[in-house]
Amino acid sequence: MKKIFCLALIIGLIFSGVKVYKLQAQSAEEIAAIAEGPKILVLNYHQIENKNTSLSVDVNSFDTQMKFLVDSGCITITPDELYAGLRGEIELPPKPVLITFDDGYLDNYRNAFPILKKYGLRATIFIIPAFTSVQPGYMTWEQLKEMEQSGITIESHTLTHPKLEELPDDEIRSELLNSKTLLEQNLGHPIEFLAYPTGTYNLHIAGIAQDIGYKGAFTIKYGVVDRGSNFFALERVPIFHTPTTMKDFYERIAWKQSFEEFGWIKK
Ligand SMILES: [Zn+2]
Repeated sequence: MKKIFCLALIIGLIFSGVKVYKLQAQSAEEIAAIAEGPKILVLNYHQIENKNTSLSVDVNSFDTQMKFLVDSGCITITPDELYAGLRGEIELPPKPVLITFDDGYLDNYRNAFPILKKYGLRATIFIIPAFTSVQPGYMTWEQLKEMEQSGITIESHTLTHPKLEELPDDEIRSELLNSKTLLEQNLGHPIEFLAYPTGTYNLHIAGIAQDIGYKGAFTIKYGVVDRGSNFFALERVPIFHTPTTMKDFYERIAWKQSFEEFGWIKK
């Protein structure tokens, strides 16, 4: 009983409670639109591996986290659905969750993919195409194609994973455009979403991404995505390694609005 109450509490917190901090910053109409609109939890993983490093979640913890999402009634969506849902073009399920992975590590294929398939969950992986089929420890084009047949969406994480804000404009443009083109050539479908390497971005980089043809870009700005979000500064909740992953997992998804209140603002 206590467990069920905790689950209900956590889920309640996930999908509510983000209105308060916006009251000062938005007009009445905007607040109403945000309050009525979808709240999308976007999880950000890197490695799923029993390695005890800062970016890795161990395999059993990842399984437990995915089971928690399923048991909680969360429905996984794609970036396209997130985009269309925020624009009011489609109706999203009541508890939409976007599961994302950055970098394209081989363990995503070996360890995360079987678990996602087991639970029937969809996910999105942001790939560094210069590393694909080249760098040890990263996935191959064949593996990416196989995953795309089973609910995984592949998007761009730039060509070589540089710190974009340190690059001149022509190199920013080349990183964003060449990764898009290379992924499109190898996978045979449009690539329209980006995750900024290391999560860092600015309005100038966002403008170039938009100009090149991306429809949206994900950051590591802590928060929930809703109609107050900027399509080129989409919030995510990072799930990094922790010794007590489930406790931290619950806290991260339940209390993210506290982080927003401490200074993370939208737009
Ligand atoms: Zn990265």
